[in-house]
Amino acid sequence: MGFLTSAHAVIAAAVAEALRPPLPPDITRWCEDNIVFDERSPMPGPFRIARFPFLRQIHEVLSPEHPSREVTLRGSAQWGKTVSVVNPVIGAWHEYGPLDSLVVHPTTSSATEWVDNKWLPMRRQAPGLIAVFGTGRSGDNKDAKFNQETLSRNGSLKVTSAGSPDDLAGTSRRLVVLDDLSKFEMSPKGDPEALALSRASGYEDAKILRVSTPQVAGTCRISRAYRRSDQRLYHVPCPHCGHPAPLTWENFLRSLDPERLQAAHFTCDDCGAAIGHEHKDAMVAAGAWVTHNPAGDHPGFHLWRAYAPQRDWASIAVDYAKVMGWTTVSLTAATEEAMRETVESQTEQTFWNDVLGLPYVQASKGPNWETLRDRVENAADGEVLPLGVLPSTGLILTAGVDCQHDRIEVQIVAFGRNYQRWVVDYRVIPHHIGDEDGRGALDAILKATWRTELGLRVPLDMLAIDVGAYTEDVWSWGKRHPWDRVILVKGASTQSGPTMVPMKFERRADGTARKAQKRAFMLNVSQLKADFYGWLAKDDPLERGYVHFARGLGDEYFRQISSEVRVLKRSRSGVVTSAWELAEPTRRNEGLDTMNYAEAAARRKMWASMTAEQWDLLAALRGIAPPDAQPDLFDAGARAVVATPQHPPRPGPGRRMRGQVT
Ligand SMILES: [Zn+2]
Repeated sequence: MGFLTSAHAVIAAAVAEALRPPLPPDITRWCEDNIVFDERSPMPGPFRIARFPFLRQIHEVLSPEHPSREVTLRGSAQWGKTVSVVNPVIGAWHEYGPLDSLVVHPTTSSATEWVDNKWLPMRRQAPGLIAVFGTGRSGDNKDAKFNQETLSRNGSLKVTSAGSPDDLAGTSRRLVVLDDLSKFEMSPKGDPEALALSRASGYEDAKILRVSTPQVAGTCRISRAYRRSDQRLYHVPCPHCGHPAPLTWENFLRSLDPERLQAAHFTCDDCGAAIGHEHKDAMVAAGAWVTHNPAGDHPGFHLWRAYAPQRDWASIAVDYAKVMGWTTVSLTAATEEAMRETVESQTEQTFWNDVLGLPYVQASKGPNWETLRDRVENAADGEVLPLGVLPSTGLILTAGVDCQHDRIEVQIVAFGRNYQRWVVDYRVIPHHIGDEDGRGALDAILKATWRTELGLRVPLDMLAIDVGAYTEDVWSWGKRHPWDRVILVKGASTQSGPTMVPMKFERRADGTARKAQKRAFMLNVSQLKADFYGWLAKDDPLERGYVHFARGLGDEYFRQISSEVRVLKRSRSGVVTSAWELAEPTRRNEGLDTMNYAEAAARRKMWASMTAEQWDLLAALRGIAPPDAQPDLFDAGARAVVATPQHPPRPGPGRRMRGQVT
């Protein structure tokens, strides 16, 4: 009997097994079954949800069985959203049943980057992906890369970019992932976000995941989606009194001490006790998502670095110190080491977007030009430098050049540490860049030197010239000089992306391409203008980013550098974009343009990424008096006389406008 019962039980179990419906799609389980972090990871080994408790609810609403059609995930960069959310959602959905899915990235290169560096490596290793797609090792032609069919031919994964609207058309897709959404740019064929969404319109049970770091407030796509959502924040209990609250930047900033970055902490709003990083793991484990906008129409999550298990709170403080230019504070050896590790230049905006996961409020207009002028002209002697004189400090000296049909405009700017700059001179050469006289005058500027307050003579480190107009003339002049002294720049129409990107090729007028490596750069002028306006608003000469002006630049100069405003435009589909326009049609903007170009040249010379030691070295070279200096040459009178280097006489920018406009 016992034998029969046992056999019966075995058969019954086998039948039950065969009849059991497939496991309910559980993305958390998928992660635990499929993700193994390698040795390079801060947490090598299999994925454990206990390390990422905040992911459980995000996974839940992304499940095919959850009724939410849309899910928004806004947050910091680099907390693992690709590995622990985007890829698992695609994997779990394809494992669950027949499916056509779509992943959209901002550009073709970011799409390629995701496929090659994030998706294919996981596909080769995760059993769940191997079962659905195979390892993808063989026959990996371009089509297969961006259109990956499942082994059983019951579905496919399509990868495309927001910049290829034609690729966004086509078959219906039940799962649509918009990755890095904030960097999607409007295309002439329409709004890529709307195009991608229309792919899912045929499905009642579609899922649309928007995931991104934010960009600029007002035009940020992920923030727009988050605002519309139920705005979930992850609340964690105070380790001292149990009071639950989200970890916020405002709270963290309140107790941030420049002298003690490693001790950065939060403070309980209820009991007032300090909450140190040692409590983080336990607090996050006991936390829960709380809706802050119950009227929201879909689940939206905001998650930033303070919650991420990979990074500590001190890293946030250190990144902020870098942005604030807190270089004079005494740092512990460990902090100094950490600051050196963050090599790439951190700006306020990247800190806001990538570390805090928040949209950045950009300056949209400059200060009043008369206020700026009066600040300089009414300053006491000794507080501002005369025209043409450099401060005696570590500096990078550059020129920004703009070509017009009847003249060439040149702005000379010195860039120092802590993002400070000194406008040294502004010149108008009354010739065209195509004329020998115009070229000769620019050559002379490259040969000229400028005096520091202590009398040292300093040549231009680099000159950046706009290649957007009179392209052939600018190229042929630029070629006469080495690329480490002259670069060609061009304003890009994009609103997002890096400050300057090398151009691979420059298109000639006849349509052929020439190599532009190391010589030509596209500038994110929108960003440069906004940042410059942010710096212009600082009124403490010791502050980070303060802009110093030489005395005597003239009214027209100040009118030009503050001539544009950033205006927001709403498209019919509701997308908000921004554009810079002249504040009044009569204003001119060469002063603002040449400032951007001068800054690009300074950035090329490492202005934004030099270490404190490198600045010290530069100060030791340029902050000194020349060896054979005659002390009596340096009284104020002599300074004014020697201020202008040898070059043809010129009108000041103020006088030039009235006298010279033809
Ligand atoms: Zn408390």
